Amino acid sequence: MNKESFAALILQAPGQIELQYKERPAPGDRDVLVKVLYCGICGTDRHIYKGSYPATFPVTIGHEFAGIVEEIGQEVSHTKVGDFVSVNPNIWCGRCTSCLEGVPHLCSQMAALGVDLNGGLAAYCTVPEQLVYKMSPATNPAAACLAEPISCVLHGLDRLQVKAGYRGAVFGGGFIGQLMLQIMKLEGASEVILVEPQENKRKAAEKLGFVCIDPISEKHKLAALVDLDVTVDCAGAGDVLSQCAKATKPGGSILLFAAYPKGKQVPIEPFELFRKELKLIGSFTYPDTQVRAIRLIESGQLQLESLLTEITLEEVKDVLEGRLDQQLIKGIVRLS
Ligand SMILES: [Zn+2]
Ligand SMILES: [Zn+2]
Repeated sequence: MNKESFAALILQAPGQIELQYKERPAPGDRDVLVKVLYCGICGTDRHIYKGSYPATFPVTIGHEFAGIVEEIGQEVSHTKVGDFVSVNPNIWCGRCTSCLEGVPHLCSQMAALGVDLNGGLAAYCTVPEQLVYKMSPATNPAAACLAEPISCVLHGLDRLQVKAGYRGAVFGGGFIGQLMLQIMKLEGASEVILVEPQENKRKAAEKLGFVCIDPISEKHKLAALVDLDVTVDCAGAGDVLSQCAKATKPGGSILLFAAYPKGKQVPIEPFELFRKELKLIGSFTYPDTQVRAIRLIESGQLQLESLLTEITLEEVKDVLEGRLDQQLIKGIVRLS
């Protein structure tokens, strides 16, 4: 076995991040060793860093990654050395009620790579074979690492059961919000508006052809945003959820997609939900959308490159602490 050492970004405890050099692991019998090409940083990583999302420490963070299979375990049957793969980071127990009832992403024993087990902000990551999805070697690896967040967005929109021609708004123009806008359009929205206070995020969405509202300086436009079939909370802050309720039409749906910090309470007017019979729909990871996410990436139907900024492992801390928020929408790290 090759004992070369490699860099890994390890979170020892909330707020304590360290770049460490580790020995390259050998895959277990049913695992593959992935040489990571790119790994994305997302809001969940920030919550883990701040201690507001449950995780198991110490852990190499990073759950959005793609790479090349470098080595395979003895019982691996469908994956070959050299395959280009993206990873579903979620490991389900297969035995709890959720798993047995066909909603394994709600598994009570869920453990995720980059959250509870070592993830992709490292040159190498050991991944159970059933979690790797083969991709075309022609795919841009920077886009391939986004299979996980795209799968999450597809699952959220599946839960809404939208009909072509619907009107919607996305609150929060981070990377997930920008994906949401694009996929809502692909899924038949006649109009999707972004509500976002930060100028760089509005500009990015405007470049992609979306109409944007600044909720601070354009309060009148926000007040006039009503009767939408669907609103999506991709912000997870302030009174966005109650703004969503006001903007949604009677009988419409609110998709709660943002990961609010655990324990956080926010205002919402129950009368609005009651009188308008609004559906408030949560969405957490995904059971089955990664194949579709990969097809979307490979087809080039999503505008991804303009939203991505390559950062170094050393800069991840700045992203987690919010110091680069005005400059970048989505930070991705090139590992090899
Ligand atoms: Zn993520
Ligand atoms: Zn389970």
